Amino acid sequence: MTDYTCPKCGGHTFDITVTQQVTAAFYSNGEHDLLDDAHGDMEWGDTSEAVCSNCRWSGTLGEALP
Ligand SMILES: [Zn+2]
Repeated sequence: MTDYTCPKCGGHTFDITVTQQVTAAFYSNGEHDLLDDAHGDMEWGDTSEAVCSNCRWSGTLGEALP
């Protein structure tokens, strides 16, 4: 696992904004179904928005690579 490090304070704890893509089906009667499991695996990468839990530095995870 990559050891992300805050470039400002050296911390290793981040709040990461995770975006998920889901597929939803809408029906003519106003109902809808989510076709994907909206609670599946969370994915993040170097372009994910991250905020340091310690000093509130914000950027992308890629900027926090050692
Ligand atoms: Zn920090």
